[in-house]
Amino acid sequence: MDQTLYQGEFFEHTTAYLDYVGKKANIDVNVLSRLKYPKRALCVSVPVRMDDATVKVFQGFRVQHSLTLGPGKGGIRYHQDVTLSEVAALASLMTFKNSLLNLPLGGAKGGVAVDPTKLSRTEKQNLTRRYTTEILPFIGPQQDIPAPDVGTDAQTMAWIMDTYSQSVGHAVQGVITGKPIEIGGSLGREGATGLGAIFCLEEALKVKNSDMKNKTIAIQGFGNVGSHAALYAHQRGAKIVAVSDVDGAIFNPNGFNIPELMTAYKQTKSLTKINVGENITNQQLLALDVDVLIPAALDGVITSKNANDIKAKIIVEGANGPVTPDANKILHEKGVTVLPDILANGGGVVVSYFEWVQSMASFFWDEDEVNKRLRFVITKAFKSVWEMSQKEGIDMKVAAMSLAMKRVEKGMLLRGLYPR
Ligand code: NAD
Repeated sequence: MDQTLYQGEFFEHTTAYLDYVGKKANIDVNVLSRLKYPKRALCVSVPVRMDDATVKVFQGFRVQHSLTLGPGKGGIRYHQDVTLSEVAALASLMTFKNSLLNLPLGGAKGGVAVDPTKLSRTEKQNLTRRYTTEILPFIGPQQDIPAPDVGTDAQTMAWIMDTYSQSVGHAVQGVITGKPIEIGGSLGREGATGLGAIFCLEEALKVKNSDMKNKTIAIQGFGNVGSHAALYAHQRGAKIVAVSDVDGAIFNPNGFNIPELMTAYKQTKSLTKINVGENITNQQLLALDVDVLIPAALDGVITSKNANDIKAKIIVEGANGPVTPDANKILHEKGVTVLPDILANGGGVVVSYFEWVQSMASFFWDEDEVNKRLRFVITKAFKSVWEMSQKEGIDMKVAAMSLAMKRVEKGMLLRGLYPR
């Protein structure tokens, strides 16, 4: 393999971590060498007619890391910093998330290097339709099923579904998930990642003979994942004492009324402009003396530099990769339980999978059914990770990745190498 093809820090960290866990878990050397690189990657140019009639060309990608366990599954990101390397790393994480959650799906990811906040609605639609056309031979309900990620939303998914459907001449709901309900989206999808994180936390408290009642929680990020995690924890009697966004954090030792805070946030779009608590920094939020910390904004926020400042006893990785491998080691030694991202934020892809199943069957479930099934999947995965971590005396992040790699390994060995 050309080592420079996917060159980039995030990809290199991901590969190094796979190597570390793969060797610890005794993964077949041939399998491990295949798992370090994507199965295939498509790079496309996306020409877009802008509102001023000029044409701009954006760089787009779709990477399929593994299709061993089923069709590719993973979001599409619109962000100015998107690179092939980043998309490849994220596609690989999807393989292991889907595997850990026992979903019949492979791992994929897509992206376009564009700042979506600088596009008009028409420009965003033009970009989405042309990007979809360029990756059309790569995607499909049996092949690879994209979903929303940073910078894309249900409307973007609706345009992708329509573009694909136009090309084949009939409506194809199963080509995409995260769609609006009216065209085949699933009830419960919007809050699924936050709800999955809270189901996971409930299980972690249960094995420690505790529960959510009066637990103090600090949450970094008040977007889709953070705000829903806050809401579901609040509904279960926990005290959300601090929340944050990109502008800073707010703190109230008595706990916030989350439904009221969500309503106020819709208006101000900035937490620090709502006068309901003391303004603190994101760094201070991470170091608060709370029972549970949920980093739900960015990757790499808890590192070897600040791991020793953490006072929470449980960390729920709402975001992808907020705790670095070095920090994870320190936290494990300090007795902090880190609920790993591929488990704790898996609720979104689980309900995406449910959406795909419903779309393919043209038979839709009510929200209780969706949530009940989500709880079942997350609880089962939690138990297997917890049991392995206890049995082998390893932290939950390593246990989760080992289990996920083992399942993919088994699939690869059963299917064999073609041609031999
Ligand atoms: P979002 O865009 O809805 O929210 C992100 C939040 O983080 C916002 O509140 C934003 O203000 C805050 N933020 C941004 N920069 C920050 C900074 N420098 N410091 C502090 N806060 C900052 O995104 P989201 O969908 O909630 O996703 C958050 C994370 O969870 C991402 O890592 C994403 O990949 C991951 N994730 C999301 C889902 C999902 O279903 N939405 C599923 C799995 C993983």
